[in-house]
Amino acid sequence: MNAFPQLLEGRFEGLHLLSDARTSLRALVGIHSTKFGPALGGTRALATYAGEEDAATDVLRLARGMTYKATLAGLPLGGGKAVIMLPRGPFDRVALFEAFGRAVDSLGGRYITTEDSGTSTADMAVVARTTRHVVGLEGRSGDPSPVTAFGVVRGIEAAAKVALGRSDLQGLKVTVLGVGNVGMNLCRELHQRGAKLYVSDIARERVQQMVEAYGAVPLGEAELYAQEADVFAPCALGGSINDVTVGVLRVRVVAGAANNQLLEPRHGAALARAGITYVPDYAINAGGLINVAQELTGYDREKAYARASRIHDTIEELLTRARKTGERPEQVADHMVEEKLYG
Ligand code: NAD
Repeated sequence: MNAFPQLLEGRFEGLHLLSDARTSLRALVGIHSTKFGPALGGTRALATYAGEEDAATDVLRLARGMTYKATLAGLPLGGGKAVIMLPRGPFDRVALFEAFGRAVDSLGGRYITTEDSGTSTADMAVVARTTRHVVGLEGRSGDPSPVTAFGVVRGIEAAAKVALGRSDLQGLKVTVLGVGNVGMNLCRELHQRGAKLYVSDIARERVQQMVEAYGAVPLGEAELYAQEADVFAPCALGGSINDVTVGVLRVRVVAGAANNQLLEPRHGAALARAGITYVPDYAINAGGLINVAQELTGYDREKAYARASRIHDTIEELLTRARKTGERPEQVADHMVEEKLYG
């Protein structure tokens, strides 16, 4: 593996390869930055990595993303991430995660883990047997989705102010793609503020709940993209802004919870050309990270919400800067982070 060019170019602090022969543990921890605090980020456990180069590319990309999200949110945290290359055959999951906890512990607190794709709160409870550098445990900060949704609605309020000249969301038309854990909570927040909702989800019963609870209009996925509205809130998977959808969107703002909304960076430019204001995903969806980070100082729900509320000011600042400089919002967000990190 030839990782140093990638590490140096991306200004990473390190990449750790952690193994344990007894349990066949093969884990990688990428630490992008600890400038503002310990590197916090989840652990992905997948059996599908082609090899350690593939796993390293993934863990480094994700670790860097955590630095950017934490730094923009003003949290006393850095960015890191872990990947466990799961054995392809049968294995003892409890022993593996205990060994992983020991490996995390050996980093002395520079890296703090939590759950991510392929890991659960039950896995993290096992990790907690062998290290204290783990958050997101059952009975502590709990489900991050309501706080994430609250942060998103505060971001939508800021975008409505700067891009639409509105002081509230009364009568604002919002299309929501994906009404899962975050999307449902977002619908509640938007409904409370008087917004008119259009929703789509492959899970029909969730759509029905939104129709009954908040008078949402149910739409198919293609219809939702084509629906004329003020705001499109992607809350399903990544990549919802792509060559196809940019051409059909009839909204003025894209602001939602999903990670990696732009399929490729060039789709941010395409949105700008179409006159659509894009609210960078990692800026507006930081509520979940803000919530779990509160565990480090003793979890306090009110403090988590107060901090998530500040997402409004961050979005207002970055959209205002984008207007002044002519840069796109996602470029401004990256620059705001890089000024803090390296300026
Ligand atoms: P979730 O799995 O609970 O909900 C996702 C929903 O999207 C599901 O209801 C699913 O049926 C639906 N969906 C999937 N593909 C779809 C499609 N093609 N068309 C319509 N609906 C589709 O996940 P979540 O926790 O609500 O997270 C949503 C997004 O927000 C994810 O991208 C996640 O990474 C991101 N995010 C979540 C949090 C959090 O606190 N949960 C924090 C930050 C970012």
